[in-house]
Amino acid sequence: MSSAGGPVVELAGGVGGARLGRGLQSLVGSDLTIVVNTGDDLERHGLLVCPDHDTVLYTLAGIEGPFGWGIAGDTSASMNQLEVYGEESWFGLGDRDLATHIVRTARIRAGASLTEANLGLQRSLGLSATILPMTDEPVTTEIRTSEGWLEFQEYFVRRHQGPTVLEVRWRGIETASPTDRVRAALAAAKVLVIAPSNPIVSIGPILAVPGLREAIERARSAGTPIVAVSGIIAGRALKGPADRMLASLGHEPSALGVARLYAGLATGFVLDPADAHLAPQIEQLGLRTLVVDTIMVDEPSRARVAAEVLNFARKLTRA
Ligand code: GDP
Ligand code: CA
Repeated sequence: MSSAGGPVVELAGGVGGARLGRGLQSLVGSDLTIVVNTGDDLERHGLLVCPDHDTVLYTLAGIEGPFGWGIAGDTSASMNQLEVYGEESWFGLGDRDLATHIVRTARIRAGASLTEANLGLQRSLGLSATILPMTDEPVTTEIRTSEGWLEFQEYFVRRHQGPTVLEVRWRGIETASPTDRVRAALAAAKVLVIAPSNPIVSIGPILAVPGLREAIERARSAGTPIVAVSGIIAGRALKGPADRMLASLGHEPSALGVARLYAGLATGFVLDPADAHLAPQIEQLGLRTLVVDTIMVDEPSRARVAAEVLNFARKLTRA
């Protein structure tokens, strides 16, 4: 499970990042570090919940639920009791999942950083890869909609992504900084992968942490290939509102629209055969392209897509 290719860093949100991360972990094991979005983090019932970190955590541990988040086979007795006490229940948390948030919150209250608390959870679940929060400081994604400003999970879960997204901002971002571990991982990376995660609200906040984009640009200048994978296939997101969000924010809801957002940062771009006709325009943006099926439905397809991405990156290194 080791790669001769050296350290791999993946930038990831939730489900799309987790699927590719699971494939990458199966190939390079402890050589993989995943830098994860924290803009979706929120407090529920006095506990700190980190939806993207935990989606990646459970997926890398092989215990994710059927929709990609939560723990497979989890039960909801605690949530039912919380409702009895009059707590809001729009953000569902399973019984076993709650243990994750209890432990994380307790350790942070006892003095651990978010990174340290999450690394402890990863060790307990036996991950070989490492998941690093993009920052230890609190950052909250806020969305201006036709109904006013909403915190990310109010838009995403409570309102089922119904309202049209007009603007996105990150509360706390000005004073946030990448952790030393994130800086070290980016500096050591031999391959950098941008997951097929939502470019606006999953990858967007990571790149908005002051200094983080610059750290990636330094890696790029040093010759590190930076490969982005399109989460938009034939104009549609496989899951979630990325396509609608791109359109309402004035971007083209297509692989080309995603490529435009990463032009100047990524050096390679992976797109689905359904979008092969867009490859010439993406190459004109200065990105090398790889056209390949990136739909990750099971373990073999996750490993296959991860292998395609790494092989493509290595070709870019040699080029
Ligand atoms: P979230 O935080 O759980 O919403 O997840 P992400 O932001 O990481 O991922 C959402 C994006 O992942 C969507 O735009 C999906 O189209 C994309 N996605 C999910 N599964 C796959 C897949 O198997 N292949 C590709 N190419 N994209 C995927
Ligand atoms: Ca998310």
